[in-house]
Amino acid sequence: MDEPVSRPQHQGRRTGCDDRDTYGQRQPDTMSLHSQDTLESTPVPPVRVAILSDVHGNLPAFQAVLADIDKEGVDAIWCLGDLVGYGAQPDECVALAKEACDLCLIGNHDLVVVDRLDISEFSMNAAIAATWTKENIAKESVDFLTALEPVDEAHPAGLYHASPRDPVWEYVLSSTIATGCLDAMTPRVGAVGHSHVALYFTRRAGGDVSGDQAPGGTELDLSDGEWIVNPGGVGQPRDGDPRAAWLLLDLSSWRATWRRVEYPIDDAARAIQQAGLPAALSDRLYYGQ
Ligand code: ZN
Repeated sequence: MDEPVSRPQHQGRRTGCDDRDTYGQRQPDTMSLHSQDTLESTPVPPVRVAILSDVHGNLPAFQAVLADIDKEGVDAIWCLGDLVGYGAQPDECVALAKEACDLCLIGNHDLVVVDRLDISEFSMNAAIAATWTKENIAKESVDFLTALEPVDEAHPAGLYHASPRDPVWEYVLSSTIATGCLDAMTPRVGAVGHSHVALYFTRRAGGDVSGDQAPGGTELDLSDGEWIVNPGGVGQPRDGDPRAAWLLLDLSSWRATWRRVEYPIDDAARAIQQAGLPAALSDRLYYGQ
């Protein structure tokens, strides 16, 4: 895992590509509620939401996840960041996110590529991949990523690339860390990415934090207590299951379902090899590590 040597703070409350702008922003004018025009133009908040994270330039995995989401049928697709880094198709993934996702956060790998974070924070292979990405990514993709932020609390569930108290760097992988994060988190339910491990942590009233990994098919009722959930990684899963991951969250019933999808790993691995990136980056895709 890419443990950082320091933890720069990137605080923000803006979402770069949420063009639906649905929550708490525009209230319908009560005087014109009976106007058909107003009814038609009032934004409807999404209920069934697909949450995905850590695409990491893996186009075949991203396409497979979006096809599975399409089959399921959702109201919105939210991406928790790290569209690029590690994988060899950053532009294709940014273009697809721009087209398919209703909201995108920025992750630490994206931040390095757009020069908002120093590359010295990265492990060797992550730094090699980030350097390659910086040298090969299109300006249009950089422009898109530059406008994003690592946190968005404008929805019923809080969204953070890494963690509620450190949206860029902190890995939420233990009950101790999750306790601090739940203490710092304003929304009752939060979604994080960054670790590429599908999991959850929860705290019922007055109780201790407990949590576990969430293999594909896990279904949980989040309607009671505080929760942090991680959908797992799309483009570089690290929980032993090489299949691409995403999370279906119903914001009305608070039912969460963790999904895994097969994708042609050979295609992603070949792209990494052809780009001249370290073999370790393609090998690990087969093991989900
Ligand atoms: Zn990542």
